[in-house]
Amino acid sequence: MDADATGALAADDPSLPGEAVSPSVRRVLAPNPGPMTLDGTNSYVLRAPGAPAAVVVDPGPLDEGHLAALAGLGPVGLVLLTHHHADHSESLAAFATMTGAPVRAIDPDRCIGGEPLADGTRIRAGGLDLEILATPGHTADSMCVAVVDPVDGTSAVLTGDTILGRGTTIIADPDGALGPYLASLERLRDLGGDDPVRVLPGHGPVVADLRALCVAYLAHRAERLDQVRDALARLGADATAEQVADLVYGDVDAAVRYAAEASVRAQLAYLRS
Ligand SMILES: [Zn+2]
Repeated sequence: MDADATGALAADDPSLPGEAVSPSVRRVLAPNPGPMTLDGTNSYVLRAPGAPAAVVVDPGPLDEGHLAALAGLGPVGLVLLTHHHADHSESLAAFATMTGAPVRAIDPDRCIGGEPLADGTRIRAGGLDLEILATPGHTADSMCVAVVDPVDGTSAVLTGDTILGRGTTIIADPDGALGPYLASLERLRDLGGDDPVRVLPGHGPVVADLRALCVAYLAHRAERLDQVRDALARLGADATAEQVADLVYGDVDAAVRYAAEASVRAQLAYLRS
């Protein structure tokens, strides 16, 4: 189960947990599936061949087996957090104790023995050059991590819950907000050169083309905003989020209804500001 002594993740070793998404990056799925987490939370382990220690992004829920699997790919030299929601952060203290690695995040309250991150922070760790992109919207403290795998030259962005591998994310009003979220999507859409940038999401499968996914997300948001505008035209300008959600999200499962209402509140705040 251990990564080998040279520090390589041995990407093609079937005995290692998770799956290699590129030679220096593994995705390890946590066992916390649910209506808001899809198949579960994706934790990522980043370590280029020869690097003495790995970077773990989002150790996820407090699950002993999952944390042992992540630690087994170490030693772990650094932990990064994409945002504060519990399905990504619940294990932070335990994992920091287990590995001795500092935890860094945009929210200073989430950092353990490490400095807070900011937009544009560059980190050399795990034998990789990482760049932090502040992408507020899903939450105020949401960030992405851009990485180029030095082995095969592929570019990827770890997107947390800013962009998911399947479906669309929610704007967690009032912590999240739609205006910043749209700006974050536009920024991610415009990253990179001619080669596609891969999406390594916090939930769901890896997606091949960040730009195409951002374009689809923006189109979806525009469509939802049109629906909310139409609902307001029918219900009156001071309609409540619950009334608008009945019209716009009338078809959603009860398990995600509260998320739909939160999303409507975010859209109403955006339209009314
Ligand atoms: Zn999540």
